[in-house]
Amino acid sequence: MIENLEKKIIAYSLKNALEHEGKCLQGNVINALFHEGLKKEEIKDISKLINEKVNFVNSMRLDEQKKEFDQLKELISKRETRGENELPKIPNVIPGKIVTRIPPEPSKYNHIGHAISFLFNYSYAKEYNGKCILRFEDTNPEKVSQEYVDAMKKDVLEYLDIKPDEIRYVSDDMEKLYSYAEQLINTDNAYVCFCEQEKLRELRHKGKECEHRNQTKKENMDYWKEMLNGKYKEGEVSLRLKGDMKSLNQVMRDPVIFRIVETPHYKLGNRYKVWPMYDFYNPIEDGLCKVTHILRSNEFEQRIELQDRIKDLLNLPKQTITQYGRFQVLDAVTQGREIRELIESGKYIGWDDPRLVTLRALRRRGIVKETYYELLKHIGISKKSATLDFNMIASINRKIIDQIANRYSCVFNPIRLKIKNSPKINEIKVKIHPLKEEERTIKVNNEIYISKEDFDTSKGKEVRLMNLYNIRIINEKEAEFMDDNQKNIPKINWVSEGINVKIMMPNAEVIEGFAEKAVEKLKVNDLIQFERFGFLRVDEINDNKIVFWFSHK
Ligand SMILES: [Zn+2]
Repeated sequence: MIENLEKKIIAYSLKNALEHEGKCLQGNVINALFHEGLKKEEIKDISKLINEKVNFVNSMRLDEQKKEFDQLKELISKRETRGENELPKIPNVIPGKIVTRIPPEPSKYNHIGHAISFLFNYSYAKEYNGKCILRFEDTNPEKVSQEYVDAMKKDVLEYLDIKPDEIRYVSDDMEKLYSYAEQLINTDNAYVCFCEQEKLRELRHKGKECEHRNQTKKENMDYWKEMLNGKYKEGEVSLRLKGDMKSLNQVMRDPVIFRIVETPHYKLGNRYKVWPMYDFYNPIEDGLCKVTHILRSNEFEQRIELQDRIKDLLNLPKQTITQYGRFQVLDAVTQGREIRELIESGKYIGWDDPRLVTLRALRRRGIVKETYYELLKHIGISKKSATLDFNMIASINRKIIDQIANRYSCVFNPIRLKIKNSPKINEIKVKIHPLKEEERTIKVNNEIYISKEDFDTSKGKEVRLMNLYNIRIINEKEAEFMDDNQKNIPKINWVSEGINVKIMMPNAEVIEGFAEKAVEKLKVNDLIQFERFGFLRVDEINDNKIVFWFSHK
């Protein structure tokens, strides 16, 4: 047994409560005790004690919890206080001074690959007591929208529980970005080009300069002002950086840094028509945000040279960039365009279709935020690209929710059996979870329902009705009570009083089940387990209808 057990339980309960707005989760306490050396077989003896202490801690006010924790915190092992400190080291970190950013473009719904990237940046800032900025890069009016901003806020702030120190929008900095553009024109590092897109692309490909490159600074500034004043239409003109038309890195061949877009902006309407490109605003914004460290996937590799050039020309600070391999998600569509098509054609139900790995789909399926933080430690920062498959996500999620998800019975394609010679039992009380004290009441009579699948494999045999007694199944109408308390035989689930439920499966098929009546008390978002079937999240309850989404086995 663990030394100082009782105090340690309280200490971990307090720690967990303080991390979750005052409410401690029993499962997390048990997990922590495992790390302290608790053995699985010991849980039974102390589950009552844990329950008692967790309830005690949860009844305290936040300030009381803090005070109490200060007294007990030395009981928490180093490993636990370090928490997520299993991230690999990155260079040039000064604790308290690190600033990272999460820079999504609100033009899609985020998927699990984005979540990992967000969490890398967030975790390092948190780890070293620095700052993390959530920055919406919303300067492409054709793609960005309020819908996506709202969805991302829900995903990042609510679901992943990221607490940025600041939320910014690049579109709020348009005047600043214009003045940086003018700085480039004034130093003869940018010019206004009137080439058509097709020609521009071709010359870049060939590494040839166009005639506009030789305009004077004054000419360029006049044309630029005309651009801003609305003289030109979309596609007629662009502002280009003077790079190197012969560079082997094509990105360096006089890239367009501003263009005209006439589509109204979701936030600013028609106030601006001249919009900056990614490679221009991104390094400037990193400077304005005083970002010190950038963690990003290596797909940006060839852009580093260009972004560094812009930083040099504008006297902006450089960041320490740590690159990691991209994440491929196995067997799931992740391309926004492809998903959009599947939704529009009616093949997928929406961005939360259970076949997708978007954050809203995973959330709906009952993947909890702790799973992503855990996943981060599993993946680490590696140059190699990593594949993520749902089994990996499921196995982490299972470990976490297994400790908290209450258990119920549900049968499928039910077969009704009358039990001959059944003993007189009106109801039984069964623990809602092996680690919890709470019980549910199950009414019993001499008629029960079992799954067709269990019937098929158990016909003619003796089986144990879970938490009840043994029966022998005679045929598809009858069974008989077996007066023998042998527990070492196959156990099957059964329902006496039940209700119909619907379950959204991972392949988007909706199946029906007949679940024990206790599920009526569930609330939306509850995570539960149907024994011998899998974990589920309560998605919808209205009138007499309960809909679950299947998480995983
Ligand atoms: Zn040109």
